[in-house]
Amino acid sequence: MATEKTEMILGTRNHGKIAEFRSLFKGMQIKLLSFYDFPDVPPVVEDGKTFQENAAKKAKAIAKATGRIAVSDDSGLEVDFLKGVPGVYSARFAGERATDRDNARKVLKRLDGAAWEERSARFVCVICAATPKGKTVSAEGTCTGTISFEMRGCHGFGYDPIFIPDGYTLTMAEMEPELKNRISHRADAMNKFRKALEGFVQEQKK
Ligand code: IMP
Repeated sequence: MATEKTEMILGTRNHGKIAEFRSLFKGMQIKLLSFYDFPDVPPVVEDGKTFQENAAKKAKAIAKATGRIAVSDDSGLEVDFLKGVPGVYSARFAGERATDRDNARKVLKRLDGAAWEERSARFVCVICAATPKGKTVSAEGTCTGTISFEMRGCHGFGYDPIFIPDGYTLTMAEMEPELKNRISHRADAMNKFRKALEGFVQEQKK
């Protein structure tokens, strides 16, 4: 007997993320939908103080609006020398209209004079699923590393040109995307999330 698939809506319009999640859910009894299937879902303001708060807020709001389990993620860079900044402000660190390069340049500027040992940082990603009734399950992934002294590389996006993962000498923007996607905070979160989600979906069916 064929098992019925659980419909799940992914809270993003980013095609790269949709593809990543599609491959994550491969083999699971999940039918993945996106904002393209629900164009009228109102945008959610990301005003939480933590990645967890933002991811849960988005997932809960989308689940409520669509009547389906919703999955959302929030990620960013935490720099120890800057006490965790840019953190949840990663996308708009150098201002609302700032480019990725503006944001990365601002981090380098704030670290001006800091020695290699003082430049530790991590990328963090939280993925959260919520039901229309507000039940949630989430997973956090990290990738630790060091902020470089200058921008290097042209792959990737965001802070990739200034982030050197532990165990490597290349910045994430100098790596082949395949390698970055294997060691990234998102990959770590997705691996953990897949395990957590299996139990969560079964719970909802009871
Ligand atoms: P989002 O929550 O995935 O949209 O990420 C928010 C911001 O964090 C992005 O605009 C980037 O500045 C930064 N960020 C998240 N993931 C990465 C990554 O894999 N590489 C570089 N920057 C990232």
